[in-house]
Amino acid sequence: MSTSRFKPVVALVGRANVGKSTLFNRITRSRAALVADFAGLTRDRHYGEGRIGRHPFIAVDTGGFEPVAKDGILREMARQTEQAIAEADVVIFLVDARAGVNAHDHEIAQLLRRSGQRVILAVNKAEGMRHAAALAEFHELGLGEPRPISASHGDGVVDLIEDALSFLDEADDDDLAAVQADEPEFPEDIDPDTIDLDAEDDETEAQPEQPRHRLKLAIVGRPNVGKSTLINALIGEERVIAFDMPGTTRDAIEIDFERDGKAYTLIDTAGLRRRGKVFETIEKFSVIKTLQAIEACNVVLLMVDAQAEISDQDAHIAGFIVESGRALVVAINKWDGLDAERREWIRREFDRKLRFLSFARVHTISALKGQGLKAVMKSVDEAHAAAYRKLSTPKLTRTLHAAVEQQPPPRKGIFRPKMRYAHQGGQNPPLIVIHGSGLDAVPDSYRRYLESRFRSVFKLEGTPLRIEFKSSH
Ligand code: GDP
Ligand code: GDP
Repeated sequence: MSTSRFKPVVALVGRANVGKSTLFNRITRSRAALVADFAGLTRDRHYGEGRIGRHPFIAVDTGGFEPVAKDGILREMARQTEQAIAEADVVIFLVDARAGVNAHDHEIAQLLRRSGQRVILAVNKAEGMRHAAALAEFHELGLGEPRPISASHGDGVVDLIEDALSFLDEADDDDLAAVQADEPEFPEDIDPDTIDLDAEDDETEAQPEQPRHRLKLAIVGRPNVGKSTLINALIGEERVIAFDMPGTTRDAIEIDFERDGKAYTLIDTAGLRRRGKVFETIEKFSVIKTLQAIEACNVVLLMVDAQAEISDQDAHIAGFIVESGRALVVAINKWDGLDAERREWIRREFDRKLRFLSFARVHTISALKGQGLKAVMKSVDEAHAAAYRKLSTPKLTRTLHAAVEQQPPPRKGIFRPKMRYAHQGGQNPPLIVIHGSGLDAVPDSYRRYLESRFRSVFKLEGTPLRIEFKSSH
């Protein structure tokens, strides 16, 4: 299999209780700090961004796997697991050193052997056991050398991930870092005495309005919201269809296009492929493809369907976007032919169920009739600029001081948190670091107050914004 510009996917497979979720939690990071404030955010903990080893990756916990199940929920789970196996770059098959091999393990092993995937056999719960003895019986699964690990203690886990992703070392994986490539380094700390509070805003104003790299736009949304229709409308006459190239059956497709003199790369998750003479949809919707597209882009365009309800699947996808920290524009599609009552209803439904997307601009469009697209693309450009905007230390600090003067942070006991200065700690999404003392007592409501001040002064609409407090003592 060829590698691609998307983050590789590691699927964890095994029967119930072998330690899949324990391993998953150890190897992934959730952006808890970023998402803590968002009420109503559903997070699907079956998918995560890998955080150990040298390569970034996406981890999928396939949940309990019952290969023998023929119907109902279990069958649906088996189907999803099979899709995850098919879409993964490498599978980690987990078994339990303490329980030994059982019939279930054999069935899963057989399925994996037939899948033709790269598989690594990990024998979990091996802490404190004599390895040779613990491993011997697992050879019979016919999946190569079993590797002892302990998911709960962490033994062997880093090596396991390194080995699982070692195939990347032979490939050209420069592209994996492409999105991060032009992100500058930001200083950890600044000497507050060197901040010139009267400085002109030259640093900020001198910045070009748009970052220099090509804007990568991911169009995501659940099946049938109108992604393909929108892509056709954006690209114009001839839809660029990817032929059945090796290695592309799973990946989203990237399409370069120009609009109003500006170059974009569009990441299409709709999944249309051409095989021989017929067009077919390989998989109408894939969570993995959606996740990879989100990770690989600079701006996400989330589509929802005005003629349906806002579903859990919409909320899940929205949750992934917030966790990724990507800039976002929302398009409520199929606005044509709706009466006023229905329009009002879907607006309320959207606000109620996807309130945590309030940082994003929301447009109502008709992909079918080509209405509203200009405004959407303008917001896409603006969200992109906001995500990469440089925020000057003097202007940040002045904004902070003005906000504190107008409304000081609440006291905790006899102490009042002191906010001295602010500087930028990162971009995409922008991170503002506020220095002072007693800052761990600052409540979330005050953080939100500061966030809205920074947002309006620096025009940060369309991007998440992180604020970090650093107390000097
Ligand atoms: P899953 O059903 O495969 O996701 O399994 P879980 O991650 O929920 O783990 C099942 C049980 O095994 C839990 O009680 C875990 O604490 C335990 N467990 C997981 N990893 C280890 C390990 O490395 N060593 C030991 N001794 N127990 C573990
Ligand atoms: P995808 O699965 O997200 O790629 O959705 P498609 O682009 O295949 O669209 C699903 C269905 O919705 C098709 O029948 C489209 O014709 C229809 N559709 C897409 N956009 C619109 C729209 O703006 N208005 C209306 N009324 N129907 C639309």
